[in-house]
Amino acid sequence: MGYNYISDLKEFINSSVVNFLAVDTARNRLEAAGFVRLREEDSWAEIEPGGRYFVIKNDSAIFAFVVGDNAPEAGFRIITAHSDSPGFRIKPNAEIYCSDGTVKLNTEVYGGPILYTWFDRPLSIAGRVILSGPDPMRPITRLVKFERPLLTIPHLAIHFNRTVNDGIKLSKQKDMLPVIGRVEYKGDEKGLLTRLVAEELGVEESRILDFDLSLYDTSKATIEGLNGEYISSGRLDDLSMMHAALTALLESDNMNMTRVIAIFDNEETGSGTKQGAASPILHNILRRINNSIGGTEEDYFRAIANSFMVSADNAHGIHPNYPEKQDPTNHPFLGGGPVIKINANCKYMTDADSAAVFRTICQNAGVPFQYFVNHSDVAGGSTLGNILTSQIDLRGVDMGAALWAMHSVRETASVADHEYIIRAFIEFFNC
Ligand code: ZN
Repeated sequence: MGYNYISDLKEFINSSVVNFLAVDTARNRLEAAGFVRLREEDSWAEIEPGGRYFVIKNDSAIFAFVVGDNAPEAGFRIITAHSDSPGFRIKPNAEIYCSDGTVKLNTEVYGGPILYTWFDRPLSIAGRVILSGPDPMRPITRLVKFERPLLTIPHLAIHFNRTVNDGIKLSKQKDMLPVIGRVEYKGDEKGLLTRLVAEELGVEESRILDFDLSLYDTSKATIEGLNGEYISSGRLDDLSMMHAALTALLESDNMNMTRVIAIFDNEETGSGTKQGAASPILHNILRRINNSIGGTEEDYFRAIANSFMVSADNAHGIHPNYPEKQDPTNHPFLGGGPVIKINANCKYMTDADSAAVFRTICQNAGVPFQYFVNHSDVAGGSTLGNILTSQIDLRGVDMGAALWAMHSVRETASVADHEYIIRAFIEFFNC
């Protein structure tokens, strides 16, 4: 093995603490590799075969592509993933002062985190800040990431709840508010957070118009296990797949068809935003690529029919303490290779045709593969694939890496699987 994909994944995840930072990390890597940024509001007439481009939507979704020579006949090869992870978003006017001067922040839950995993962690704040500028219609966006731990959500001591280990019901509004510190009490003073952000960015406080800020766990990704076989980190769902898609795009070299990665936002809340998979954004980008290289509408339809999509989002590995939760005959394990996800009620886009394509790609890449199907009495999740096919009628497969503790503040995955998946993705782009 030459390049160390796992060290690179750790670095990628550590810097990508929220959706906006994940997109910024990807942008840096794409620019370093010579990709040119296109803006939706500009003309894309400069696009040409062989060119490498990327588009950012809402600072939180990113689409990168290398234009191939043979558009309608070869179509698009697409890998999708998502930039967002469940957690806590800070509400406006967030400061809540306790009478002793302790300050809490008011937050709202984003997506479906396992709430109690967020207690007693060294948390901090990251996201985007919107500043006033000369044009009221186009305020200025700055990203912010506080490196130092700033907050914690302290758990109630067991002495105040002796039955805590029998299970507790948590209120998102009462139990989960983070403490940011202690100040001399001056009444319900607002603006503490704005002042902190202004100082961090080195801007006038009055220029801050609004922000999208979230909490993140400052603990870094670690390699664990007897033989270093596991990676433990926040946000493996779905930044591990985002990293694999990006790495495969940068390391593949097939110029026959157009290779695309599409990293959407808001998968954890149902994808229903302009930067989410239920929007027409990918459809629009593919059409514009086709149009810019002189393709007709007929060419576009032919290209779509010749395309294939890998929807990469993580899967549940069989849990050693709860094997009964998994299907009796299809229970992927950590280290068993990429997981092909199948659902009879079409929660996943995989069918026998697309699963056959993906397993052949794995075989050609020398990579093992496995299947995930829900235990029939357990309702599963859904992901990007079937949502996207309501916008574009693509062939494709839903797959991912087997994880433990999906939506915990730290999840566990296999080091070997990450290597396998990158190899399979490179094969997908190159075959
Ligand atoms: Zn996911």
